[in-house]
Amino acid sequence: CTIAGILVTKRIKNRRKWSRVVEILSEFEDGCSTSIARLRQVVDAMAVEMHAGLASDGGSKLKMLLTFVDRLPDGEEKGTYYALDLGGTNFRVLRIQLGGNRSVILKHEVERQPIPENLMMGTSEDLFDFIAMSLKHFVVKEEGSEQRPDRSRELGFTFSFPVRQVSVSSGFLIKWTKGFAIEDAVGKDVAQCLEEAMTRRGLDMRVAALVNDTVGTLALGHYHDEDTVAAVIIGTGTNACYVERTDAIIKCQGLLTNSGGMVVNMEWGNFWSSHLPRTSYDVDLDDETANHNDQGFEKMISGMYLGDITRRVLYRIAQESDIFGDAAASLSAPFVLRTPLMAAMHEDDSPDLREVSRILQENLQMPEISLKARRLVVGVIDIVTRRAARLAAAGIVGILKKIGRDGSGGIGSGKTKGKIRRSVVAIEGGLYSGYSMFREYLNEAVVEILGDEVAESVVLRVSEDGSGIGAALLAATAAHSSDR
Ligand code: BGC
Ligand code: MG
Repeated sequence: CTIAGILVTKRIKNRRKWSRVVEILSEFEDGCSTSIARLRQVVDAMAVEMHAGLASDGGSKLKMLLTFVDRLPDGEEKGTYYALDLGGTNFRVLRIQLGGNRSVILKHEVERQPIPENLMMGTSEDLFDFIAMSLKHFVVKEEGSEQRPDRSRELGFTFSFPVRQVSVSSGFLIKWTKGFAIEDAVGKDVAQCLEEAMTRRGLDMRVAALVNDTVGTLALGHYHDEDTVAAVIIGTGTNACYVERTDAIIKCQGLLTNSGGMVVNMEWGNFWSSHLPRTSYDVDLDDETANHNDQGFEKMISGMYLGDITRRVLYRIAQESDIFGDAAASLSAPFVLRTPLMAAMHEDDSPDLREVSRILQENLQMPEISLKARRLVVGVIDIVTRRAARLAAAGIVGILKKIGRDGSGGIGSGKTKGKIRRSVVAIEGGLYSGYSMFREYLNEAVVEILGDEVAESVVLRVSEDGSGIGAALLAATAAHSSDR
């Protein structure tokens, strides 16, 4: 047993370890395949499920919820409105002054703060008291000496969870998503919960519009550009809404609106199809979430989960090889790898991947790892992000297909006089606006699926703060139409 012999066996062992790593990685990559053929299947499945969800309640995992928004802001809105945006990692309060002249938002103040984690799992009274208090502080600060006891205030309440609406300003929570779990709120009218909390806190304000964040985003998108037909959120969670013809909403026969259309909140986070590329890591992640078996599409796409899918793959590699040294323990805890860190590592363009190394050491307390290992980390991140972005792209094309704007012909087809109608999709959320690799993958996949010519008529437009501002605009629209 010579030293050389030891060295040789060590090298062979290392090689074996690497080959195990390569095995794990390529198995994962295959599992995440989003070939164009597969994306097309997802597009079709999305359009089919949309039909099913519109046909009957419970007809599909896509809830296709009515919003009672039948008129989108047109720029005539005037006055001062508040908005409260609850549903992600932060919650925001806003105040905007509208001048009655399109795209002139005179003043717009925002304050954002994180939601204390204990409130996400406590009682509905605690949650709503907390947000009513924050709102009250904001109102007092904003209005200062302008405060007049006789003036009533109108609020657009963005509540980004599935809600069964009964009017534009009220609706019952169906279930929580994104880590919120406040049992006693399920089944309650959340607008009423908020109004009661505001009354308890001595704040005179009325919920004029209760809207999903996608709907707020669509409203602002439409305010800026009338060709806006759908809105997508890809942030902590993911979802989409779009304008549907009332006669296509079969489950609600006799539904009449002035415009002949209504915004439908798809709740696409819960979309499911056997064509989705699902791996054992996705299954394990789902098993460990509070909303097990729910939000399957969301768990492959949104910011709450991408970091953890990545972590699971790295953990497996750490357990089966020593390329990360003794990092297995650092990688064992769920959700330690947050998606923003993952994005930062993905975008590290230093030749020796210094950022990757720093992030892993500082945030995950991992030991220093080799350059080869750092490249591997980036490789895993790339697979996870690419799959997410491409699936979201397929979802978007699915909507365009449903409304006949994917260039494939058919009723209400995108083609008028040989020209394809322009369609704008408003997008909000950190993954699209703040993670350039994600955005590039998504844009690229849309073009790949639609083809260059059709894709030219489709505009994906980032809508900053759309969900909040849009809710204030819808409050103005609602307040305005009830005046008449
Ligand atoms: C919720 C949706 C919301 C989306 C984006 C999902 O978890 O169910 O209502 O629009 O997250 O915030
Ligand atoms: Mg949000």
